[in-house]
Amino acid sequence: MWRTKVGRTLKESDQLICKELKIPINIDKNQALLWRLPLNHQKIPIVDKDLKKRKAGFNGEATVYYHLSFLNDKRYKIFHDVRLPLFSNYFQIDFLILTPFYILLIEVKNISGIVKIDPLIRQLTRTYKGLTEGFSDPISQVQRQKLLLQKWFSVQKLKIPPLEHLVVFSNPSTILNFTEPPPADSPYRNIIHSQNIIDKIKDLNETYVKEAITDKELSKMKKTILKKHKESELDLLETYSLTQGDIVTGVRCENCNYIPMIRVSGAWSCVKCGNSSKYAHIEAVREYFLLISDHITNQELRRFLHLNSRNTAYKILKSLQLETKGGTKSVTYSKPTR
Ligand SMILES: [Zn+2]
Repeated sequence: MWRTKVGRTLKESDQLICKELKIPINIDKNQALLWRLPLNHQKIPIVDKDLKKRKAGFNGEATVYYHLSFLNDKRYKIFHDVRLPLFSNYFQIDFLILTPFYILLIEVKNISGIVKIDPLIRQLTRTYKGLTEGFSDPISQVQRQKLLLQKWFSVQKLKIPPLEHLVVFSNPSTILNFTEPPPADSPYRNIIHSQNIIDKIKDLNETYVKEAITDKELSKMKKTILKKHKESELDLLETYSLTQGDIVTGVRCENCNYIPMIRVSGAWSCVKCGNSSKYAHIEAVREYFLLISDHITNQELRRFLHLNSRNTAYKILKSLQLETKGGTKSVTYSKPTR
């Protein structure tokens, strides 16, 4: 969409979007798990709830991404979902915007209803459908990320421009109420609705008029971030205390989600809805990689797809053009990189 329209004609160093919006792999994993738990499995409600939460979070980020797409100066370097290692841990930032003048960290909140913010005791409560619940204070959260990023820059020996932060509520119908107006210099002034994001960035541009780093330093910073970023990849079997035995094997019908489809003369057929597909196994292998392991053998594939023929399994694996390891008898096929 917008990125290809703008990004395609620019040189790599001129790019505005350095790390584009992408559906996190944990959403794909969560969805695959939901498809592949037996219908009456006790973990379904929690897996379903987590998936909805993850999707809502991503949709919120997509809203913010849309608003950021109105920035048109190529000196902004925009990164969606950055996760950087620091000592033995990682810290994650929803959006990071680098400029030669300042750096902006954006924490996105997708919280519906009436949100009450108390800057004095650093508390956030939300009332929705008659229920009031507490949330962790997003300003404390983003300030912590700021400290971690500062530390990370110094470990990487990168020059640090002033760091700014925003907490952006992505749902326009969320009502934000402050218990008392935060003073002019309070970090709580930086809690906004997503539609105000560009105005807020314009304010920052007026505040920071002096270049803190050169274009060359900015470019080095961009490269280091992209190199050190590592996407979060959960092992969902571990997360939900499941075993491989909990996962339903077989090819899934993409039309009605029924598992297993059966193989009839070189194609997959759904006994429930009658749908037929030549390539439904591709998705099944993808789900295997998402949930079970990074590698698969011929035998494991036959078990997972309910195939009898070693030769058919071989042909399928070959057609997927996966990287292989090991000799002819013990060959394993690796999951493709994203
Ligand atoms: Zn079906």
